Amino acid sequence: MVYYSTRNKSISFPFAKAALAGLAGDGGLFIPQAIPPYRDAVKNSLGTMPFLDIAFETIKPYVAGDIPDPVLEEICAGAFPFTAPLVPVSGNSSAAVPLVLELFHGPTAAFKDFGARFMARSFSWLRRGEDRPLHILVATSGDTGGAVADGFYGVEGISVTVLYPRGRVTDLQEKQIAGLGGNISALAVEGSFDDCQALVKAAFGDALLREKLTLSSANSINIARLIPQAVYYAAAAGKALAGRSDGDGEATPRRTGSVNPTGSVEPAGSVEPGSFKGGPVLFCVPSGNLGNLTAGLYAMTMGAPIAGFIAATNVNKTVPEYLESGDYKPRLSRATISNAMDVGAPSNFERMAAHWSCEEMRRMIRGAWISDDETRSTIAGVFRNHGYYLDPHGAVGWTAVQKLADSGFPGAAKGPVAVLATAHPAKFSETVEGLTGPVPVPGTIRRALERDARAAALPNDLAALRDFLLGTS
Ligand SMILES: *Cc1c(COP(=O)(O)O)cnc(C)c1O
Repeated sequence: MVYYSTRNKSISFPFAKAALAGLAGDGGLFIPQAIPPYRDAVKNSLGTMPFLDIAFETIKPYVAGDIPDPVLEEICAGAFPFTAPLVPVSGNSSAAVPLVLELFHGPTAAFKDFGARFMARSFSWLRRGEDRPLHILVATSGDTGGAVADGFYGVEGISVTVLYPRGRVTDLQEKQIAGLGGNISALAVEGSFDDCQALVKAAFGDALLREKLTLSSANSINIARLIPQAVYYAAAAGKALAGRSDGDGEATPRRTGSVNPTGSVEPAGSVEPGSFKGGPVLFCVPSGNLGNLTAGLYAMTMGAPIAGFIAATNVNKTVPEYLESGDYKPRLSRATISNAMDVGAPSNFERMAAHWSCEEMRRMIRGAWISDDETRSTIAGVFRNHGYYLDPHGAVGWTAVQKLADSGFPGAAKGPVAVLATAHPAKFSETVEGLTGPVPVPGTIRRALERDARAAALPNDLAALRDFLLGTS
C-alpha cells in the first residue's frame, strides 16, 4: 500500500515512512492511496472470526510491503490481548436501548489503547536493525499520554518522553503516565497543555536535538494509530449482522449490588449474551479529533456491514454543524465534562475531507451535539433503568442516539444500533459517582493507582528539555 499527503497526491510513501513520520513534510496527513475492500471470504465470516484474525485481515493490506504476514500476526497478538465486547444493556436492542461496544478493556481503560499499542509494536518492527534508539516525544492533556506510555512500555529500541501540564491532570492520569518507569520518562511541565505542545514542537525544530537523537511523535493523526481502530468496527458489525451480542464480560461496569442511590432495591445485574434482529449496524461515535469516526468510515468502505454513523459531540459542535450547513468552521474549544472530546478544530477532518465529499459524508453520517446537562441526565437515567454505568463520553453517544431515534438515520438504518463506550466510567468517577454512586473499578485501573508517579519537574523552557533529553539518551 502507498500513502499520499492530503495536500499532495503526486508523491507516494510506503507505510513505514508514513507511520514513522506521522505528519507529511507539507503539513498534510497521510492517507492510503485506496481503501482496500475485504475479500469475500473474510467479509462473510466477520461474525464468527476471532478478533485477532479480523485484526490481521483488516490491517494486512495497509501494511503490505512493509510488515510480513507472520510479523503482523505477532504484532496483533501483542497489541490486542483484550477484545471489544458488544454488550446488550438490557435484554433487547432497539434505538431506544442501543447495544454498547465496550472499547475500554485495554490497560489504560480507553479506546486509545488499540491504536497506541499497535503503533508501538509496528514502530519497533519498522526500526529493527537501527542502532540508534527511536525517541518519541508526546505532549498530553491527560488521556493520550497514558495510552502512548503504556503502549510503548517495554518495547525494544524505543524510548518515550511524555510532557504533561503539572497539576492539571487527574491522579489516575498522572500514574498512568509517570508510574511505569523503564523506557518511559515523564516530565511535569510548569505550564499549560499548550506550553507542552509548543515545547515538543520546538524540540523537533532544534538542530542539536535533531543531530543527537532520532525523534518521532505519536499523536493521534498517525496513520498507524488510525488503521487498527477499524478492527473493532468490523468485528462488532459482523456480530450485529448475525444478531449476536457478547453478554457481560468480567469487567462490564454493571450494578451488581442491591441498593441504588435512591435507596430502592434492585435485582443483581448481568445480561447474558443475547440474540436480536440482526442487520447492518448503525454506530454512534463520541467524537473529538475524529480519528475514531474516520476509522469507522474505513471499515464501512472496506465492506463491513455498517448502515451508517452518528457523529456525537459535546458543545464543541464543529462537525454536526458542518454536516448540517456544509460550512466547515473550526474554532477554539470549550471545556466540558466529556473533556477528551473538547476539540474545536478536529485534526482528522482534513483526512475525511480528502476521502469523501460533503455529500458523501452526509449519506454516511448524521451529526448531533449534546450538552453537559443532557450528558449527566443520561448517565443517571441509564444507571437507574438498566444498572449500567456510562462514562461521560459514552453518555454523549447514548444521548445522541435517543435524540435522532425519531428523526431518521443515515442509510435509513432499521437494524441494530451500537454506541461506542470510549472510556471506562471509573476513569471519570468524579463526574459519574455523583450520579450513580460508587463505580466499580476494573483491575487495569486498580493496578495503575497502586503505582507511584515519578515525574521530573520541568520549567517551561526548551533548554531544560534539551538537557533532559540529552542526559537520558
Ligand atoms: C480521545 C477520546 C475520544 C475522541 O476520539 P477521537 O478519535 O479524537 O474523535 C472520545 N472519548 C474518549 C474517552 C477519548 O479518550
